[in-house]
Amino acid sequence: MVNETMVGLGKKRSVIREIFEYAKIRSAQIGKENVFDFSIGNPSIPAPASVNETLKKLIEETDSVLLHGYTSAQGALSVRESVASSVNRRFGQNTNANLIYMTCGAAASLRISFGALWEEGDELITFAPCFPEYRVFANGAGFKFVLLPSAVGTLQIDLSVLESAINERTKIVLVNSPNNPSGVIYDESNIVGLTDLLKRKEKEYGHPIFLVADEPYRELTYGKEVPYLMNYYDDTIVCYSWSKSLSLPGERIGYIALCERMQGVSDVYAAVCGAGRSLGYVCAPALMQYLVERCGEDTSDIGAYRENRDLLVGGLRSMGYDCIEPDGAFYLFLKSPEEDEVAFCERAKKYELLLVPGGDFGATGYVRVAYCVSKEQIVRSLPAFQKLADEYFK
Ligand code: PLP
Repeated sequence: MVNETMVGLGKKRSVIREIFEYAKIRSAQIGKENVFDFSIGNPSIPAPASVNETLKKLIEETDSVLLHGYTSAQGALSVRESVASSVNRRFGQNTNANLIYMTCGAAASLRISFGALWEEGDELITFAPCFPEYRVFANGAGFKFVLLPSAVGTLQIDLSVLESAINERTKIVLVNSPNNPSGVIYDESNIVGLTDLLKRKEKEYGHPIFLVADEPYRELTYGKEVPYLMNYYDDTIVCYSWSKSLSLPGERIGYIALCERMQGVSDVYAAVCGAGRSLGYVCAPALMQYLVERCGEDTSDIGAYRENRDLLVGGLRSMGYDCIEPDGAFYLFLKSPEEDEVAFCERAKKYELLLVPGGDFGATGYVRVAYCVSKEQIVRSLPAFQKLADEYFK
């Protein structure tokens, strides 16, 4: 009667959502202040003042029919011009307004890009740990989803593993840096190695292999540069959103940008527009488009995440926990002190610490701690982490 795959997807909540819902129930029982919810990547820092100021101005000064009306399917031209000139000024001349497609966030950017590129038999490669929805988006578009382990210890891309997995059916290599859930940023040398390999493989197979860069965390970094992939590889598609940089995840605004030197770029852009149309993802929210046209380069107070990161990493390491130092985003990937990270997360619940097991990210043995919370929550949670540590390290 209905599509069974969709029933399955609709019925099964993600582990992150399960824990997030549990946090709400627990908060109602014992008080929000007694629950240390590190489950979800919802920015805890308000949008910068410029967001509300710009929204007010837009509402006061713009004709309401225009402000709330349809834009072009791919986004208003003035908005796409502003996005293209911003990325070209900041990262190098790589794109233009006619290669930008405005979307309802990075999720839509990814799903449209996958839909645009898929042909029968195609494979998409990405690297663990990764955002669990990648599998859903890739399979939804028709791709065989291939998840490769990253280099042990550093979580950089393991080029020899990639080289042995890549084949003539590989259409997309998907990277996410800064990474959810590890916070790792790929080193420039890693990116050079990756793009050299892809160039070699494109020649060998005689067709493009698209590098899709999922970049909702690009602006959330703590000192390390995030290489802009179009500068290294022409067949690059950037999927961006303002969900995290402007703390606007509920407003659903992002874009797809194609590199102007990409093979068959006009057909790829037509396919992006076609996939957007086929999925019903036309005309991203107009008010949000005009907002990012005016303050798309602003960011919320990212320094607060850095403070959280330093407090958490320092605190947890001093208790004996082992973790990967996050270079960006607002996640910490913590090594589970017991092999079974699900059991560790269950034990953490005893102390009202709500952590996400790494299995769904493709990395068992680890847990994700989302530190986009108040500093106060971090400070108050440390004694609970200590009690949990005492069960393992004493
Ligand atoms: N990609 C990654 C790695 C994410 O962590 C998220 C959201 O958390 C998304 C994509 C989706 O972003 P958006 O909310 O902009 O659709």
